[in-house]
Amino acid sequence: KMKEIEESIDKETVTLDGERVYLHLNIGGRLDITQVSRKRPDGIGLLRTELIYMDAVEFPNEEKQKKIYENIAREFEESQPNKPIVIRTLDIGADKKLSYYKMVDEENPSLGCRGMRLTLADKNLFKNQIKGILRAATHHNIKMMYPMITNLKEIIEAKDLVEECKKELLIEGKEFKENIEVGMMVEVPSNVMLADIFADYVDFFSIGTNDLTQYILATDRYSPIAEKLYDCYDPAVIRAINMVSSAGLRKNKKVSVCGEMAGENQAVIALLSLGIRDLSMAPAYIPKVRNLIRKIELSELKEIKIKLLKSKDSQEVKNILNEYLEIIE
Ligand code: PEP
Ligand code: MG
Repeated sequence: KMKEIEESIDKETVTLDGERVYLHLNIGGRLDITQVSRKRPDGIGLLRTELIYMDAVEFPNEEKQKKIYENIAREFEESQPNKPIVIRTLDIGADKKLSYYKMVDEENPSLGCRGMRLTLADKNLFKNQIKGILRAATHHNIKMMYPMITNLKEIIEAKDLVEECKKELLIEGKEFKENIEVGMMVEVPSNVMLADIFADYVDFFSIGTNDLTQYILATDRYSPIAEKLYDCYDPAVIRAINMVSSAGLRKNKKVSVCGEMAGENQAVIALLSLGIRDLSMAPAYIPKVRNLIRKIELSELKEIKIKLLKSKDSQEVKNILNEYLEIIE
């Protein structure tokens, strides 16, 4: 098995029927370049910027952010030229805290001021990061993405702030990318129900199944109870992914999945059957997933999709996926 995975590392990421699937990296604040070049990812699908802020002793300013993003991009491009890098704006709150920033005390932090809610409440914080990203994107294939969006108003507010940043950069005579692509993470059930509407306001979706599972099932992903209830194979989550995938298809917007499940064999089968062609995962999973994709016959997944969407519980979902896995492996 290891040998098989090792051998497929230099091959194309295509299914048996020749459909290309794109494998991207999830990375924290730093890039382990030795990891990257051998794995030949199609891009960075999720650059979590929290670690950059957590490593600092105060909010990194615009200039510092620009440098950090440029350094990561340069390093990445050394082995993977021209491939896209998606920078996610700061997603602190709930489980992620900063030593130099006092957060409001809340009864339910994961339902409270986190992600975009926090950055939109502190416009300077948001604008510093946006300006850093816009400037770093001048000479690199950088896109940006918002975490934890609840409603359209937030997207519109963010859009206005980005325009404000561009105007300021223009006046300051700094180079930046005018037409940067902007996407949103799908992490809140409202995003799923209104996916066709959100699709008109963003360039792409990336489904954050870690949080989406927690919010669909109303189960804290870090709580002890999670062992019993928190399950990304719950058919409610599967249907949610399907809804977003179909909305994306209808609206011609790319939908990727960047939650942990994107690196799991069973989930890869499920996601491909639901029409997902873009996965983003920790670097270590890339070779294994590439090897698996090369054994999948997409036409055989039609039946699986129908079965998944009729499943009653996560056990049924997993049985369907495991059965197919056993056949192809
Ligand atoms: C997610 O929620 O699925 C996700 C990728 O974001 P994070 O794990 O950083 O919350
Ligand atoms: Mg998340």
